[in-house]
Amino acid sequence: MTRTYQIRTFGCQMNVHDSERLAGQLESAGYVAAEDSDAADLVVLNTCAVRENADNKLYGHLGHLRPSKTDRPGMQIAVGGCLAQKDRGEIVKRAPWVDVVFGTHNIGSLPTLLERARHNAEAQVEILESLETFPSTLPARRESAYSGWVSVSVGCNNTCTFCIVPSLRGKERDRRPGEVLAEVEALVAEGVLEVTLLGQNVNSYGVEFGDRLAFGKLLRSCGSIDGLERVRFTSPHPAAFTDDVIDAMAETPNVCHQLHMPLQSGSDRVLKDMRRSYRSSRFLSILDKVRDAMPDAAITTDIIVGFPGETEEDFEATLEVVRQARFSSAFTFQYSKRPGTPAADMEGQVPKEVVRERYDRLVDLQNEIAWQENKLIVGRKVELLVAAGEGRKDAETHRMSGRARDGRLVHFTPEGAAVDRRVRPGDVVETTVTYAAPHHLVADGDLLSHRRTTAGDNAEAGQRPTTNGVSLGLPSFGTPPQAPAPTQGGCSL
Ligand code: SF4
Repeated sequence: MTRTYQIRTFGCQMNVHDSERLAGQLESAGYVAAEDSDAADLVVLNTCAVRENADNKLYGHLGHLRPSKTDRPGMQIAVGGCLAQKDRGEIVKRAPWVDVVFGTHNIGSLPTLLERARHNAEAQVEILESLETFPSTLPARRESAYSGWVSVSVGCNNTCTFCIVPSLRGKERDRRPGEVLAEVEALVAEGVLEVTLLGQNVNSYGVEFGDRLAFGKLLRSCGSIDGLERVRFTSPHPAAFTDDVIDAMAETPNVCHQLHMPLQSGSDRVLKDMRRSYRSSRFLSILDKVRDAMPDAAITTDIIVGFPGETEEDFEATLEVVRQARFSSAFTFQYSKRPGTPAADMEGQVPKEVVRERYDRLVDLQNEIAWQENKLIVGRKVELLVAAGEGRKDAETHRMSGRARDGRLVHFTPEGAAVDRRVRPGDVVETTVTYAAPHHLVADGDLLSHRRTTAGDNAEAGQRPTTNGVSLGLPSFGTPPQAPAPTQGGCSL
């Protein structure tokens, strides 16, 4: 009997990337994606541990799954990801109806552990302390026909005091450039138009094999891949952000002029306590250099409000950097105590109501700035990669949605003489922006151009790329020449 599976993914893009590998492996083992998620024979929870309520979320899902397990004893439940790496056997103690717990370093062992749990009628908990197989080399079932995640590294050498990632994902391990580029080329050969290079700190890529300029070179190499129209990356770290990366972005046509650069705080005193080894002036100077080289660049960020010890003056410093930085959007977070991180035991934990009040002020300011920046785009021609399932395609307006090269979301009217039969996700269109809202743009006029693509054909046919990261047999974790001391400070993906 073919068994069906469902994967629930929490947290960052690295987890989205890993879930594509979990799906690929399960399909290689004969499973098929469940059409009816409530009837899945296997439910995999790929967890995140960054936020305080991450535990509540996991045990909430496990609680809801228990009755299905009681009704269908053959059903299996597996828990993976960062919270599994942290809580290990504790998960089976608290939820004995869980069959498998696996960690961030051994996602390749899921099918075997599921078989063993069924054969031995006993829960299997397997957590490794370091990476077993680079997830990219595992079979993949990709989510999108036109856009692909390609990880360049896993882990992080930084020790930001609020972050649990290094203790759960380990030290930074870098894939060899040849392996990254081979995966990108294979994706493009399957019709993919856009890739996002992934790493906890993409711009410290190469630290493991001693090439500090490796990331800029990787971007330039992506420039020579025919058919690759858009290259994005996330997340860089301000402390390790070098001019060669800005030059590579500006001089490589298919690299999008979009930068996600986590600030976290605008107060130098707080940045010091966060162990983020840059200060606000350095952060702003990078933005100036980026805008000098790419005046049309859209810059987004992450900001934490209410870090232990944050005073009203510190918060004002954050607001001031936000005023100067003109972010096109920002992921804003209320500080969340994470057991196991240095910040969790710091003095001066800020009362929740104070954090909330500051958070609201920051969001109001950032929304106003995002709207003003979006209004500057009204009247401009934009090229969109048509998206599936993003934004809205409402029956009333018949609009579809797509992403501009700078990452902005645009709802557009897929009509006009330029339309070639029908606009599909994965196709590329050009249109003129007619209206700006704080978090999206609208283009209500007729399309200026419509290009049907192989990605559009595949999306229409429900086909997904199956490329997984090839191993070129290079000793990916060979002992590289002594890497320089890792830099401090990074950002969560
Ligand atoms: S750089 Fe990012 S992933 Fe690394 S410790 Fe800092 S916040 Fe966490």
